[in-house]
Amino acid sequence: MQKLEMLYEGKAKKVFKTVEEKLYIVDYKDDATAFNGVKKGTIVGKGVVNNKMSAAMFLMLEEKGIPTHFVKLLSDRESLVKAVKILPLEVIIRNVVAGSFSKRMGIEEGTELKETILEFCYKNDELGDPIINDYHIYAVGLADREQVATVKEYAFKINEIMKAYFLERGIRLVDFKLEFGLYEGKVILADEISPDTCRLWDVATGKKLDKDRFRRDLGDVEATYQEVLNRIQG
Ligand code: UDP
Repeated sequence: MQKLEMLYEGKAKKVFKTVEEKLYIVDYKDDATAFNGVKKGTIVGKGVVNNKMSAAMFLMLEEKGIPTHFVKLLSDRESLVKAVKILPLEVIIRNVVAGSFSKRMGIEEGTELKETILEFCYKNDELGDPIINDYHIYAVGLADREQVATVKEYAFKINEIMKAYFLERGIRLVDFKLEFGLYEGKVILADEISPDTCRLWDVATGKKLDKDRFRRDLGDVEATYQEVLNRIQG
């Protein structure tokens, strides 16, 4: 399948139309940003890792009953996906205290949570993706009640599936961000699942195996992204 006009260029990916109205091509870049675009850089090979890892995660989740936008891998950096309309929500799942939650709540990073947390952010770069709740979603009309119920059900299921999947690979799933889209009127999982969108800690050593290596200048960034992919590909 050929790329036609570019529809959208984000921080980490480009999206292209294809001859099929219902299919897009996603092209993963090596560009990395953090802190709402304030920190910019390149992680060499990241696009390849995130493309291949997302493909593996979406295939695995589909097998376990989660509908996703993924159709097939086209190349090292490109995937064919269903053309969804993205819901303007970032869905964050937290198993362990980290990142913005640690700052906001004043709780030390690494603290195990008594229950899994689901947070919504309004997907809007200019506003810095502010945290919102269900009332904001309905009052503003970002999604309807049925869509939100489905998003929550899928997000918690995905968490259980991914926690077990990563644990088998010696990785603790700390937190992650999901995006969902509408396809033929139904909610399906979209965007990506990668070290850019998940916090992953090595079970044995506690080493951070994710974008925090870039955010916090911890070094060993490229090799760590590759290491995560290697563990997934076995
Ligand atoms: N996350 C993401 N994109 C965002 C914000 C967060 O992929 O725009 C991911 C992030 O990598 C982490 C989780 O969501 O795995 C929770 O992020 P947090 O709210 O702690 O924000 P951060 O500390 O990344 O600013």
